Amino acid sequence: MNRINVTRSSMPSYEEYCKAIKPIFKSRHLTNMGPLHNEFQKKVGAYLCAENVSLFTNGHLALCIAIRALGLKGEVITTPFTFASTTNAIVDCGLTPVFCDVNPDTYTIDADKIEALITDKTSAIIPVHVYGNVCDVDKIEKIANKHNLKVIYDAAHVFGVKIGDKGIGTFGNISMFSFHATKVFNTIEGGCLTYKDDSLTEKIASLRNFGITNPESVNYVGTNAKMNEFQAAMGICNLRYIDEELVKRKKAEATYRARLENIEGIKLSQIQKGVTKNYAYFPVVFDGYKYNRVEVAEKLSENNIFARKYFYPITNEFSCYKGKYRGETPIAKHISENVLTLPLYAGLTDNEVNLICDIILK
Ligand SMILES: *Cc1c(COP(=O)(O)O)cnc(C)c1O
Repeated sequence: MNRINVTRSSMPSYEEYCKAIKPIFKSRHLTNMGPLHNEFQKKVGAYLCAENVSLFTNGHLALCIAIRALGLKGEVITTPFTFASTTNAIVDCGLTPVFCDVNPDTYTIDADKIEALITDKTSAIIPVHVYGNVCDVDKIEKIANKHNLKVIYDAAHVFGVKIGDKGIGTFGNISMFSFHATKVFNTIEGGCLTYKDDSLTEKIASLRNFGITNPESVNYVGTNAKMNEFQAAMGICNLRYIDEELVKRKKAEATYRARLENIEGIKLSQIQKGVTKNYAYFPVVFDGYKYNRVEVAEKLSENNIFARKYFYPITNEFSCYKGKYRGETPIAKHISENVLTLPLYAGLTDNEVNLICDIILK
């Protein structure tokens, strides 16, 4: 039987990708904002309905540059129910993370708990849209305005998601999307920032290229985070199929939901009204079910199916962070200790989803 992993990277055909990269072999323009980079930037910006978009070699460096571009200092309120990248970016930029707990139904930051964590050192909120679910953007905006805080969204999981007709990347000051191979949309490795304020364009572009502002001046302590032409070519190809892929993911998710909804001890994440989904992940919380998640994962793996404990552990339990930062997060801890992310990707068949559900229910 074929191995079923939690995700499978989307790719165009070999021929299609070769055709896309052919011009590079003539121009020898491999990186540094070449024609494919510029074409992809326009296309992906339009797809995300973003006012401004800037491309990066990966999402993590994009997030670090977002933090630097806004000149954040002191404390940042964030959640530990995320990938290592979010907390690492905050700490690596010299800031202090303060951990806020998450909402038990959407696993995103509990906006009602943010204000109690604000001090005179707080400069920003860095919430995470998790699994394709969105944060309470309206409440977060009100809090940010009231306390004069910046907001950077970790939008690594929400490529293509909209609230009403607004792209998810239009909320907050800056949003970071990841185009890593395992995400809904990929450029092999890659990422972007979307942002409102046009005046950030020069600084962001410069920070991703060593802080160089023109050939004879370096105005910022920048890094190297440019997207190359081969990544951009992959993005241009994959973007042609994203809508088709979302339809396939939607179908797989619908089967999962139909089979696993209303089962005692199995909790699915809440469907958010007015939010278009991207079906990025299918998290299931086993809470009082006849089997715990380790038992379920073992049964699945006996059948060559590999689910993941994602996110586990939460970042404030990492040995490099444990006990160092403020904020109690019992709900995030509970979810992290009971969640299993089931396989979900565009090529996953209905039979395979049914097989996974059969094993879980048996
Ligand atoms: C993948 C991911 C990132 C990092 O993105 P990369 O492109 O892999 O650097 C950051 N935050 C979250 C929540 C992610 O899932």
